[in-house]
Amino acid sequence: MTDFRLHSVLRPLTSVAMDGPGTLPRWSASALSTYERCGERYRRRYVERERGPGSVPMAVGTAVHRAAALDNGARLALDQRAKLGELVDVAVAAYDEALDRDRVEAPAPERGEGRDGAAAGARGWGAHVSPSLPRPLACEERIEADLAGVRLVGVLDYVTPGPAGDVVGDLKTGRAPAAGAAARSAQLTLYGILWRAKTGRWPAAVALDHLRPPSAKRRAATWQHERQASPRGPGDYAAVVARIGQVQAAVAAGVFLPAGEHEFTCAPRWCEFWPTCRYVAPARRALSAREE
Ligand code: SF4
Repeated sequence: MTDFRLHSVLRPLTSVAMDGPGTLPRWSASALSTYERCGERYRRRYVERERGPGSVPMAVGTAVHRAAALDNGARLALDQRAKLGELVDVAVAAYDEALDRDRVEAPAPERGEGRDGAAAGARGWGAHVSPSLPRPLACEERIEADLAGVRLVGVLDYVTPGPAGDVVGDLKTGRAPAAGAAARSAQLTLYGILWRAKTGRWPAAVALDHLRPPSAKRRAATWQHERQASPRGPGDYAAVVARIGQVQAAVAAGVFLPAGEHEFTCAPRWCEFWPTCRYVAPARRALSAREE
């Protein structure tokens, strides 16, 4: 795609009302998806800067990502894979660190099971995912881009060479992948724009590497790997940019709609602000407590 086409993709954002330079939010994929699921949750996280406690599954995910980053870094710098023992050690240390840092409240058996899961996930990366990928071109690459009235940011897990060009990859841990997850991922589309901003090259494809235990109750068992790849084109980039433009305009106008009452993520299991959210009626909170 030429520069002219890149500008065509980004042009819609120039019409978004702004307060002036330096006042725009920086849009990451998680900020965008948080707003789209619940404007109030976005407001508390990204405007008020409130942080709720983490969870054991989140700490496991952090740990496995840390192991993958170690391995990708070794391959990038030295063309050598990290040893399985090193990956496990790094993952377990990262898991314990995340439990403390994110104030995770969980009983000791669950914490221990999570630690075993972090080790199993790190082994899964080393045994299944890493050997399936070519030597990366980049890993843990933080890229910021200020483009036509919107500020984007993202940390790309890894980018690898493919037969038709660069492939932007992202690691997902924990749950079975939904069909078409890579094709629908706005996160990967955003990463494609960032990669283009940094290198001048559009990726040939984007991909999700799903790594997970056989079930949520067997985190310590051998983890399974499944890759989903998907192409991206100008229409995909234009669509995500248009969505960011509208969300940015809503934030600039102070519009933070709460999630609908039937939205599954508006629940104590999924939202850290549930206990204190002014949009949750007492009767609904009581009902949820009885169902737990
Ligand atoms: S409890 Fe529901 S409405 Fe409140 S912030 Fe969370 S998701 Fe949004």
